[in-house]
Amino acid sequence: MSVVAGNLPLVETFLPASQQEMVEVISRATADSTPIYPIGAGTGLSIGLPSRKQGWGLATTNLTQVIDFPARDMTITVESGITMQALDTELAAQGQRLPIDVPQRATATLGGVVATATSGPRRFGQGTIRDYVIGITAVDGRGVSFKAGGRVVKNVAGYDFCKLLTGSRGSLAVITQLTLKLRPVAEATAFVVCDIGEFEAAEPLMAALGTSRTAPVAIELLAGPEWEHDAALGSITSSIRARLVVGFEGTPPEVDWQKAQLLREWRDLGARETRVVEGSAGDALWSRLAEFPTGDEPALVVKASIQSSAVARFLQTAATLDGKCSLQAHAGNGIVYVKFQEFSAADALNVLVRGLQPAAVKAGGHATVYSCASGIELTHQAVWGPRTSDTALMAAVKKQLDPHGLFNPGLAIFSC
Ligand SMILES: Cc1cc2nc3c(=O)[nH]c(=O)nc-3n(C[C@H](O)[C@H](O)[C@H](O)COP(=O)(O)OP(=O)(O)OC[C@H]3O[C@@H](n4cnc5c(N)ncnc54)[C@H](O)[C@@H]3O)c2cc1C
Repeated sequence: MSVVAGNLPLVETFLPASQQEMVEVISRATADSTPIYPIGAGTGLSIGLPSRKQGWGLATTNLTQVIDFPARDMTITVESGITMQALDTELAAQGQRLPIDVPQRATATLGGVVATATSGPRRFGQGTIRDYVIGITAVDGRGVSFKAGGRVVKNVAGYDFCKLLTGSRGSLAVITQLTLKLRPVAEATAFVVCDIGEFEAAEPLMAALGTSRTAPVAIELLAGPEWEHDAALGSITSSIRARLVVGFEGTPPEVDWQKAQLLREWRDLGARETRVVEGSAGDALWSRLAEFPTGDEPALVVKASIQSSAVARFLQTAATLDGKCSLQAHAGNGIVYVKFQEFSAADALNVLVRGLQPAAVKAGGHATVYSCASGIELTHQAVWGPRTSDTALMAAVKKQLDPHGLFNPGLAIFSC
C-alpha cells in the first residue's frame, strides 16, 4: 500500500501489518535514535513548520481491523489506520455514527483525526473527537505499548491518556487502537440560512441563538469568493457580505419544528433574507463545510480560535487585510479559517505577526498557520504565535513519553 508523505524528510517508510510489528519498528528506531514520523493517510502532513531531521515514516494504513463492535453498547474498538469512510460504513450498518466532520473522509484515518483533534461544523452540537475517545492503545518513544480507558468510562488517576493523546499530533506516541462512544445516525437534517449585509449585522442573530428555543448542531458564518457561487446557497449579490448558516439534526418532526421556529425568531429580529436548505442540497452543503480548510491551494490558510462573541469583528479585520480572502467561522465555537489569496512571502509574515495574530489575541484567543504555499518561509512565531506558559508544561509531558525526542521532531510547538 502506498503512503502520501508530504514534505517529510524520510529515508524509509514502514507500514507495519500489526500492532506488535509497530512496537518492533519503534524499538529498532529508538535503539539507534532514529526520528520517527507517524503517518495516517498523509492528508494533513503539510500543516505546520517543515521538519528537517531525516528519519523513518511509520504509517498506520495497514492497521484497519475492527476489534470489537458491541452495537447495543454503542461503542466500537478499532485499529487506528481505519479510514473515516470505512468506519462510517461499519457503523451505518447498525444505524450508528461518529458525528465528527473530517475533510477528505475517504482517506483520512481515525488515528490522524484523533492525533490532530480535527473538528468541523458539528462541533457546536455534537462535541469534538476528544468527547468520543474512551479507550486508547499507543506505543511510546521507548517502544513500550500502553493502554488507557476501555469500553466503559471510569475515573482515572494520573494522566488521562485518552485526553492527552487527542491533539498531540504524533509527538508523544503512535496511536494504534481506539475505543469510541457512538451516536445514532440522524434521521433528518436541514439548514436555515440568512444573508447578511455587513458582518456586524450577524451579531444580534448569533447572540439570539444563545437564547433560542432551538438546539442547532452547527452555526457557521461564511464570506468571501468561495461562498459567492454555491449550488446549495445560491449566488451572492453585491449587497450581501456574509451568510449565517445554522444546521439542525434529529427526527423529521424535530428538524421541521426547529427550522420553522428559527425562521420565526429571526423574522422577529428583522431578518428578511432567510431560507431553508435541505435534502441533497443540504448533504452537499455539509460536505462543503467540512472540506473548506483543505481544497484549492491558497497562499495562506490561518486558523484562529477566539471568543465566539468576537467572531464577526474578527472576520471584518481579516477581510480588511485581504479583500479577496474566503472565510469560514464555526461561529458558535469561535473557530475561524481565513484563506488568503494575495500575498508575497514577506507580506504573509507581516499580515500574520502584525495583523491577524494580535487581532486574535485581542479577541481572547490565538491564530496559527494551518497551511501555506511552498515558497513562503515562516518562523516558529508566525506559525504558532508567541510561546505561553503551557508550552513548558507540554514539553515536560513530552519528556516523559518520548524522552529521546524522536517523534515528529520540530513539528509541534513544544518539540522544536
Ligand atoms: C495540527 C493539525 C490540526 C488539524 N485540525 C483540523 C481541524 O480542526 N479541522 C479540519 O477539518 N482538519 C484539521 N486537520 C486536517 C487533518 O489532518 C485531517 O483532517 C485528518 O485528520 C488527518 O488524517 P490523516 O490520516 O491524513 O493524518 P496525517 O495527515 O497522516 O497525519 C496528521 C498528523 O497526525 C499524526 N498522526 C497520524 N496518525 C497518527 C497515529 N496513529 N498516531 C499518532 N500520530 C498520528 C501525524 O504525525 C501528523 O502530525 C488538522 C491537521 C493538523 C496537522
